[in-house]
Amino acid sequence: MAEILYGAPVADAIRERSKKESEALGREGVRPCLALVRIGDRADTASYAAGLKKNAPKSGVLIRSIGLPEDTSAEEAARLLEDLNSDPAVHGILLLLPLPAGLDADALRNRIAPEKDVDGATDLSQAGVFEGKDLGFAPATPRAVMEILHYYRIPVAGKRAVVIGRSPVVGRPLAMMLLRENATVTVCHSRTADLAAAVRDAEIVIAALGKPEAVGAGILGKDQILVDVGIHRKEDGTLCGDADRAQAELSVRALTPVPGGVGAVTTAVLLQNVLEAASRQLKYRREG
Ligand code: NAP
Repeated sequence: MAEILYGAPVADAIRERSKKESEALGREGVRPCLALVRIGDRADTASYAAGLKKNAPKSGVLIRSIGLPEDTSAEEAARLLEDLNSDPAVHGILLLLPLPAGLDADALRNRIAPEKDVDGATDLSQAGVFEGKDLGFAPATPRAVMEILHYYRIPVAGKRAVVIGRSPVVGRPLAMMLLRENATVTVCHSRTADLAAAVRDAEIVIAALGKPEAVGAGILGKDQILVDVGIHRKEDGTLCGDADRAQAELSVRALTPVPGGVGAVTTAVLLQNVLEAASRQLKYRREG
């Protein structure tokens, strides 16, 4: 049976660091604050927002929750983001996606000031991930995957890693992060001709394809580490990932569970980014 790489101890270790940083900022008169912007009334964004609000005190972060109605105009949403950009009491901004139809997510996410872009949503933050520079922030989910690999001391350098999925929020930045740590990275997508061959050859497999329980026994191997980024609610109300856990547990050496894996760490990483943002902003103010 595979070893289970739980997210909870990883998240606890990050939160412990965060709490200390928050206390140090508090001594400087700074109360790290994340503005959580939710437009419309979707169940998935509501549940993510609830998770952040529950976990924020453990990381020493204050949440300013802002809910706008479904019929919010692009101008109103942009004005809100501009106000938050210029508010010195707000250190990070998270615009919860997806937005209601009619709002251009691409245009709005790029309204967030790079120094407050704690989930790496802007083009500038994404360029930073590709260039290996702190231009903004790296998105929280791929960083959470790297935190899990580090915490469980899974070697990355020189290993063959396959990332299944090439979205701008998960697959692509994660491929860059693995590459930066000297993995040999293959990126697969919906047009990959032979996914099974690519996966079979890998030592680290990242499932981020957005298809419930799609990665199964036929393509996994016994010496592999499987990180499952997917999260889906099944008809019976339970959660599952992009990999078939029952099959994977019998196939691979170690895997992250769903729930209780990457998702648990993502929130802690995002809140950690708020502290990093607050520290950077304090430093800029001091340096004038
Ligand atoms: P996405 O935007 O839907 O992207 C899915 C990617 O997978 C695309 O690049 C797509 O290829 C590729 N793909 C689809 N079907 C495939 C197949 N049969 N074989 C190989 N590749 C295939 O999804 P996402 O936003 O990256 O999210 C990925 C997963 O992570 C989802 O399950 C999502 O719920 C989950 N997620 C989890 C967290 C967390 O914190 N745990 C955060 C964000 C997302 P093309 O580019 O060719 O279309």
